[in-house]
Amino acid sequence: MAHLSLRAVGKTYGGSSQPAVAGIDIEIADGEFIVLVGPSGCGKSTLLRMVAGLETVSAGEIRIGERMVNKLDPAERDIAMVFQNYALYPHMTVRQNMAYGLKNRGTSKAVIAERVAEAARMLELGAYLDRKPRALSGGQRQRVAMGRAIVRQPAAFLFDEPLSNLDAKLRVSMRMEIRKLQQRLATTALYVTHDQLEAMTLADRLVVLNGGRVEQIGAPLEVYRKPASTFVASFIGAPAMSLLDARIDGGVLSLDDHALARVGNPAGPVTLGLRAEDLRIAPRGLPLTVDYIEELGAQRIVHGMVGAQRLAVIDTGAAALNQTVQVAIDPTRLHLFDTATGRRMEPVAEAVVEPVS
Ligand code: ADP
Repeated sequence: MAHLSLRAVGKTYGGSSQPAVAGIDIEIADGEFIVLVGPSGCGKSTLLRMVAGLETVSAGEIRIGERMVNKLDPAERDIAMVFQNYALYPHMTVRQNMAYGLKNRGTSKAVIAERVAEAARMLELGAYLDRKPRALSGGQRQRVAMGRAIVRQPAAFLFDEPLSNLDAKLRVSMRMEIRKLQQRLATTALYVTHDQLEAMTLADRLVVLNGGRVEQIGAPLEVYRKPASTFVASFIGAPAMSLLDARIDGGVLSLDDHALARVGNPAGPVTLGLRAEDLRIAPRGLPLTVDYIEELGAQRIVHGMVGAQRLAVIDTGAAALNQTVQVAIDPTRLHLFDTATGRRMEPVAEAVVEPVS
């Protein structure tokens, strides 16, 4: 077990003029579960592969524990990686697959047998130890891949989208298993996913990446409640936060001709962020013309237009398609972002925000 530290880490692929990732600073505590999340192409895999030693580091330093590992081979880094495609040896049994890495390192037969038995027990694979991977389900294969990582007792686990080949239901249960296992083993973990829900539910802290740079680092709820930018606001949370062009004039925040709240921020254009669950359909408020309704069973998400801008609201009533309803806004629950930079405006000083009468 070890802490992990990335300092000013960057990567420029050969032949490319732009870095794939740049200036990445992340300190990961011993035993912490960190999830790298962001859209395709934001640099998650590049970062993970640099930590694993599968990709050279163009700038900065990567440390595992006290050791600078930039120049070390993957095998010398004391990490175990779990891949999306499982990467199991098809001709070996489950037992042999799990034992392979240890055998290569010259671990004694007795220790190998003990660790494989322990991992198989934790992962409920005991009945499958003599099977070949092709005779296993996708979920079982992923468990074997986990088992192979566990038996090595590494300083850190690296996960590269390990659940993306599983169906939705299995993904949810495997997510829970991974989290429980990691907590039980208390092994530092770095996990890559493009799925914000997976990131929210697994992470001690999220690292949201955008275009090869860190957009925000924080505990999932902290990031959800105080997104640092419009990028984070629209990426974390489903339905996505609605972002609307608004204005502040004389301390009053307004959208089109509708005054919404008193705010302490300076006059000018501003991007207003509203989460669907912070809004409700009420007798008075912003007029929303409904153009789409998502019936989710426990919830109804009502989508529509306020003037020319899109807004989503969680509805407890019975708003109907093509109807115009009024949406009440809680002034303590709104988010403001600088329209030019997309950065969160602080303080939106909740105390200063009060409804316009
Ligand atoms: P993600 O995992 O978030 O989808 P990647 O780390 O795979 O993102 O990619 C980040 C950027 O680096 C992308 O612009 C991608 O096209 C580029 N890239 C990734 N791998 C290579 C490579 N082997 N050679 C050149 N460019 C690459």
